[in-house]
Amino acid sequence: MPEQANKLLVIDDQPDLCEFISEAATGLGFESLAVTEPDEFRRAVQDFQPTVVVLDLQMPGADGIELLRYLGERGSKAQVLVASGMDQRVLATAQQIGKAQGLTMLGALQKPILLADLELMLRQCLRADSPINPAVLEAALDTNEIQVHYQPKATRVAPNRWIVEGVEALARWHHPSLGFISPARFIPLAEKNGLIRRLTEQVLEISLAQVRAWDATGLELSVAINLSPQLLNDLAFPDQVARMAAQVGADARRIIFEVTESAAMFDPGTTMDVLTRMRVKNFGLSIDDFGTGYSSLKQLYLMPFSELKIDTSFVRDIFTHEDARTMVETMVLLAHKLRLTACAEGVESREVLDFLDSVECDRAQGYFIGRPMPGDALERAVREWNANQG
Ligand code: C2E
Ligand code: MG
Ligand code: MG
Repeated sequence: MPEQANKLLVIDDQPDLCEFISEAATGLGFESLAVTEPDEFRRAVQDFQPTVVVLDLQMPGADGIELLRYLGERGSKAQVLVASGMDQRVLATAQQIGKAQGLTMLGALQKPILLADLELMLRQCLRADSPINPAVLEAALDTNEIQVHYQPKATRVAPNRWIVEGVEALARWHHPSLGFISPARFIPLAEKNGLIRRLTEQVLEISLAQVRAWDATGLELSVAINLSPQLLNDLAFPDQVARMAAQVGADARRIIFEVTESAAMFDPGTTMDVLTRMRVKNFGLSIDDFGTGYSSLKQLYLMPFSELKIDTSFVRDIFTHEDARTMVETMVLLAHKLRLTACAEGVESREVLDFLDSVECDRAQGYFIGRPMPGDALERAVREWNANQG
């Protein structure tokens, strides 16, 4: 992949501020361009191809949010900094909007902008020569280096009786020389570089083959696949996954898609369309890491989810923070009232599982039941766990 230069584009209606930002950027080694009009900005996005954009949210006669949307629609890979004299909440919301448009939001600059803050932020934007870059990830996808591990999800079939009936598929990347690379690093990399769809397809394909292999041994399991927010903007996605499932004869009822809350809660338009069509095709839909995103409870009842996954951060704390216990209990109740299945993540001990049993949580996942592991090891682990449930 050819190395891209560091190019900064700034738009602000105040020419002196433009100059200030532009000069600071040049001093750090950026090639920079400053504009004051939206039309100039749009042209520059196309012709100049900035790697960093500094955007003033409030300009007379122009709307910064609209320009964010423009960047999003063009699939801009630029890192975006928003600037405004308005309060932090407005800046924070603008960042959420940018993220939901698939943009890489780097942060906010509160006006008046201090040179030190500006330089600190711009330094973070300078391309570091990371060995884990899009080209390496793309090669990994080409050579099937991405593997899938499976973590058991137990279902409470009766009081104190938890049977593993499903798994969550988790992508694993072991690079021959760089070693094990965490999904926390390569998933965002895939998302930012247009590789997430391919990655998801590979994970789905591998998982479906694995489900069939387990079937052949008499072990019937459902499989949960993590879906990146971006794929919810892809209207063709539901048909594509339905085709993939049909090709291997997999029943949609045995496939659950896990979506992170922050993403699912935004832009109800396209997201709702995609999610609803998935449900109509009988796929399960789970809202992942519930309680950690920018949730709107209203969206929760509007969106067609079938499962609510309670985030690890609450589950982990149930014996140290009474409030965490209350949250878990309440989330289970909320799920049930909304006719959703509740699944707790991060179950690391018998005590936690017993607590979940007492509040009638439907599913549990965590190291206590089983760590993520390769398909053959999982088969043995599940048989052993289930045999011990009486
Ligand atoms: P997630 O979907 O919330 O997955 C659960 C994460 O919690 C996994 O981390 C799992 O290993 C970890 N975990 C499970 N049980 C326990 C426990 O008892 N204690 C603790 N401390 N951790 C536990 P992992 O595999 O590192 O994945 C991190 C995240 O990366 C996932 O969070 C998911 O959001 C994302 N991810 C993984 N595979 C894929 C994929 O194929 N596609 C997409 N879009 N995202 C993926
Ligand atoms: Mg998940
Ligand atoms: Mg989760």
